[in-house]
Amino acid sequence: MYIQTEALVLREAQYKETDKILTVLTLQTGKRTVRAKGARRFGGKLAAASQPLVYSRMTLFENRDRCTLDEAEVLDTFYGLRRDIERLSLAVYLAGLCEALSDEVPDPAVFSLMLNTCYALARTEKSPALVKPATEMRLLSLCGYQPEVETCPVCGRTPPEAPCLHPQQGVVHCETCRDGLESGRSLPLGEAARLALRHIVLGEAKRLFSFTLAPEPLALLTAAAETYVLAHLERDFPTLDFYHQTVNPPCP
Ligand SMILES: [Zn+2]
Repeated sequence: MYIQTEALVLREAQYKETDKILTVLTLQTGKRTVRAKGARRFGGKLAAASQPLVYSRMTLFENRDRCTLDEAEVLDTFYGLRRDIERLSLAVYLAGLCEALSDEVPDPAVFSLMLNTCYALARTEKSPALVKPATEMRLLSLCGYQPEVETCPVCGRTPPEAPCLHPQQGVVHCETCRDGLESGRSLPLGEAARLALRHIVLGEAKRLFSFTLAPEPLALLTAAAETYVLAHLERDFPTLDFYHQTVNPPCP
C-alpha cells in the first residue's frame, strides 16, 4: 500500500552500506519508522529528504509491518538551523521529545507545532531560550499532559497567589497552599511566568511564540518547563544535555 503524506524527519540512523532508518512524523499516519534505501549515497534521490529536520512530501510503501521511503520532494530543509549549533541542538532535542510522545496516530496539531518550531528557529530571530519552554509545554499539553494554570486546586483562588508549578500533579497552586498537595517538588513561577505559561498552553497555536518575558521570569518558566518534561517522560534526554552545553560550554 502506498501512503502519500507530508513528513518531518525526527531522527536518522545508519543502516547497512548506504541506507538509513528514519523516524518520521507524518501528517497522515503519525510517527513511522521508515527505511530509506540508498539515502547515504551522495546525490541519491532520497539523500536530501532523509536528513534530520527536513520537511518533505513523501510517498511511503507499506508492506505488512515494514515501511520504505519510495519518493520524496523536499518542501523545506530549514537550512538556518544548520548554521547555528544552539538552534540545531535545541531542534534535535525537541524532535526527540516529539518522538517520545508520538505514536502511529495522526495528530495535525502536533505536526503543525513541530513545523512552526523548526520555522521559528531556522527563519526568525526568536530566541531559542523562549522557543524551548513554549514548545515543551505546548507539546506536552497536546499529548495529554496539559497543566491546570488558572485556579489553585487547594483553595480555589483564581489566579493562584505567588504561583508555583507542581509538575507531578500538573497544577499551578498558591505558594501557601503547598501542604495541601501530595509530595513532589514544586517550582516557583511568579505571575509573569504563569501568564506566559497560560498563553503557551491555552493560546492560539499560530501565536505560540508571540510573547516576551524578562530574564528572571523566563528563567523560572524554563526551569519549570524542563522539570515538567522530565517528571512526565521519566527518562533522560542526552540531546538536552548537549543543548545545555552549547548554551553554557564547560570551562576548559
Ligand atoms: Zn491556593
